[in-house]
Amino acid sequence: MINKKMYALGSKRSIIREIFEYSKIRSAEIGADKVFDFSLGNPSVEPPVEIKNAINDLNLNENSVLLHGYTSAQGDFSVRKVISDDINAKFNLSLTPDNIYMTCGAAASLSISLKATFNDGDECIVFAPFFTEYRVFIENAQGKVVVSTPLEKTFQIDIDDFESKINVNTKAVIINSPNNPSGVVYSEDTIKAVCNVLNKKQAEFNHPIYLIADEPYRELVYADVKVPYLMNYYDNTIVCYSYSKALSLPGERIGYIAVNPKAVNAKDLYLAICGAGRSLGYVCAPSMFQQVVKKCINAKVDVNVYKENRDILYDNLTKFGYNCVKPDGAFYLFVKALEEDAYKFFEKAKSKEILVVPCDDFGVKGYVRIAYCVDKDKIINSLPAFEALAKEYKQ
Ligand code: PLP
Repeated sequence: MINKKMYALGSKRSIIREIFEYSKIRSAEIGADKVFDFSLGNPSVEPPVEIKNAINDLNLNENSVLLHGYTSAQGDFSVRKVISDDINAKFNLSLTPDNIYMTCGAAASLSISLKATFNDGDECIVFAPFFTEYRVFIENAQGKVVVSTPLEKTFQIDIDDFESKINVNTKAVIINSPNNPSGVVYSEDTIKAVCNVLNKKQAEFNHPIYLIADEPYRELVYADVKVPYLMNYYDNTIVCYSYSKALSLPGERIGYIAVNPKAVNAKDLYLAICGAGRSLGYVCAPSMFQQVVKKCINAKVDVNVYKENRDILYDNLTKFGYNCVKPDGAFYLFVKALEEDAYKFFEKAKSKEILVVPCDDFGVKGYVRIAYCVDKDKIINSLPAFEALAKEYKQ
């Protein structure tokens, strides 16, 4: 007898993947230029030139064990040292390499952190709208998902709702900022308020409540918007970082977990993370890309490309009558569907070859997500279809 839960996960693809697969079939039928696929969060900006230079400089013929062999489970020491030094310099902290655990991206960072901290029946609070895979990762760690509803219009955290969702079983809270799917960056005031509540509740229940910072989009912010570094606000913080979006390397599967040295029993927490990575069978993060990110610690993708896409889309969609929050980061626009049922709206958009993601599974009904990490031309060419769709609803 196979495992029914795993069968259910494998036999039903996520809606995003479903739409992406449909887009490939439709593109073969009518031509890719006529399909406006905004489904997948696949970075469209080239990795920084430093990445290519670093790969070229790796001396592939001579460093076979370093580049293709196993590293220690927590990652190469020199790589972890460069990362902890970088965090300390940027955020005025005191991490050591033994607070860093290299992973295969944010998905692995999250799965490992949850597995390391959760016991059967523990609860994890997620803030809607939230990345749908959280449910998979939390339930795989035997945890229960508890959804906190956001403030209307701004999609910032509703602190009262958050506080009402905490109880003695709450083990962790996941914060994702800049947010997928809303593009919202949580303000410093919001973060301070969340941390105040957490500190109060930890004292009340007399056990740690972990703040898990899911940070694949940290570097993708526009203008001078600041993303607060959560370790500076709360001791029991675990940062789940990834280079997938920051350096446009999602297929290379590279990221890390950083444990706040000030967390309660931080050394034990780190060892539980090592144990969770072991039990989930990760063995080690890709060796070659550990070396690449070590050499590219200050590299950045050109976020202006995403900003330009955001501006074109936001300005035109609001002109056509759509409602959305102006995103400060990531590469998603969270748009109110023009009818109550986001799935019906999705179907109508699809009939105009516009592929967006209905967001009911993200914990907010009546919205769709537009991933604008696509060529600028695709956005410009899609505008008449968006305008026609809005007109259809007005009639
Ligand atoms: N967390 C969020 C909010 C995401 O949007 C994604 C990917 O889209 C991930 C985690 C997983 O990222 P990675 O590719 O680094 O595993």
